[in-house]
Amino acid sequence: MASNGSSVLKMPEIKFTKLFINGSFVDSISGKTFETRDPRTGEVIAKVAEGDKQDVDLAVKAAREAFDYGKWPRKSGFARGRIMMKLADLIDEHQEELAILESLDSGKLFHHNKIMDIPGAANSVRYYAGAADKIHGETMKCSGEFQGYTLKEPIGVVGHIIPWNFPSIMFFAKVAPALAAGCTMIVKPAEQTPLTALYYANLAKEAGIPDGVLNVITGFGSTAGAALCSHMNVDAISFTGSTEVGRLIMEASARSNLKPVSLELGGKSPLIIFNDADVNMAINVAMQAIFFNKGEICIAGSRVFVHEGIYDEFIKKITESLKDWVVGDPFDSNVNQGPQVDKKQFEKILRYIEYGKRDGATLLTGGKPCGKNGYFIEPTIFTDVKEDMMIARDEIFGPVMSLMKFKTIEEVIEKANNTIYGLAAGIITNDLNIANRVSRSIRAGIIWINCYTAFDRDCPYGGYKMSGFGRDLGLHALEKYLQEKTVITPIYGSPW
Ligand code: ADP
Repeated sequence: MASNGSSVLKMPEIKFTKLFINGSFVDSISGKTFETRDPRTGEVIAKVAEGDKQDVDLAVKAAREAFDYGKWPRKSGFARGRIMMKLADLIDEHQEELAILESLDSGKLFHHNKIMDIPGAANSVRYYAGAADKIHGETMKCSGEFQGYTLKEPIGVVGHIIPWNFPSIMFFAKVAPALAAGCTMIVKPAEQTPLTALYYANLAKEAGIPDGVLNVITGFGSTAGAALCSHMNVDAISFTGSTEVGRLIMEASARSNLKPVSLELGGKSPLIIFNDADVNMAINVAMQAIFFNKGEICIAGSRVFVHEGIYDEFIKKITESLKDWVVGDPFDSNVNQGPQVDKKQFEKILRYIEYGKRDGATLLTGGKPCGKNGYFIEPTIFTDVKEDMMIARDEIFGPVMSLMKFKTIEEVIEKANNTIYGLAAGIITNDLNIANRVSRSIRAGIIWINCYTAFDRDCPYGGYKMSGFGRDLGLHALEKYLQEKTVITPIYGSPW
């Protein structure tokens, strides 16, 4: 049982803990399991099958057969779309249970899961279901003797490697366009958050997605994930996670069959607040940019540049605003920030807070764990941050803001771009010329003007520089799961 402020939620029974291969839940061949834990307390929620290379081999075999001989890639896009619509409806029917499981496993806020993540996942499925029958090639007139056309064909067997910060959203950001394209697939959810992925596998079966089309292998990155990336029979990898692992994935592809990979990686995104900004609005945006999802989000606005004209006012007011920010049980609807996903992440964030202090930044607020149990950390702000400090350079993936002052637009553009990453940026200003100039000058894949963390399934999402390449969301995402075949034929009979 857990209270969410107004009502008492019944904790669901954990029904799905085995690997999902070729339409059945099965134990791992080794018989091994791993524990998934509740980050509120560190207690074990369930033991989940630990898949490794041998299980990946079985899942790839099933996906390969389903692709080479099965119905899914050969169905009309319309027919695939109808089955996907059914899956979306099933997700809606199980919304509360899924939202609870997601919070239990990840520490994400239950009310966010209920109104955003789970309905967002279902709507992603609907979006791509609607696109499934609108995948077309082109016709080419050629030189007159010949005509050419292209076919957009599904790329084949796809491996999806999913992170733990948005387990449901990321699952369907990858699975839904791949299903629409007619691919078959193996999903490797993050070891920290395997529960909703297995639940979705069951719903996919119930919706009528044929056996072998969607397989889920729970397990660790260095074993199951690596086996998928180096598999000769996997035709593409779609990955979201750290830049370090992204590099390993490219290496695995290069060493095996040169499968195309798309990588959505880390970030150290700037939020730039100009002196004409409404300071109260800017503070709301800045807090949302870094503390949303406890800072466990790759687009986190972790470097906040504030114009010197409003800097002192900004600091005073954000310190005040943080007094109302509640860290606590993610099932309580009054809470703004739940626990970090696990002990490793909790310790990493605390380590970075120590680096910040050691390197001479000033701790304005927070900086400590909170609560007796679990992995809760106070929202933390550092001022007097210098660009070369570790807290200003590295992705922390936690609720830690580095505040910096700036004077001129040229200076702030240079500082904002002074990072290996290029995932996102935010600009707060009412001056259209500034907004236009800065948004074109920042090398990042997504720019928010007078907002932050606003996503839409119709807007492509992905990075520049070492934040990766390839786009999730939008119709662009379909391209990752398609390949183009050119067909050329004579118009007036064969000249040969
Ligand atoms: P984090 O460091 O934030 O946990 P990771 O990049 O390590 O993020 O993890 C993201 C996903 O990548 C997880 O599903 C994880 O299991 C997987 N992963 C980790 N290492 C590898 C690897 N060597 N090959 C393939 N997948 C991996």
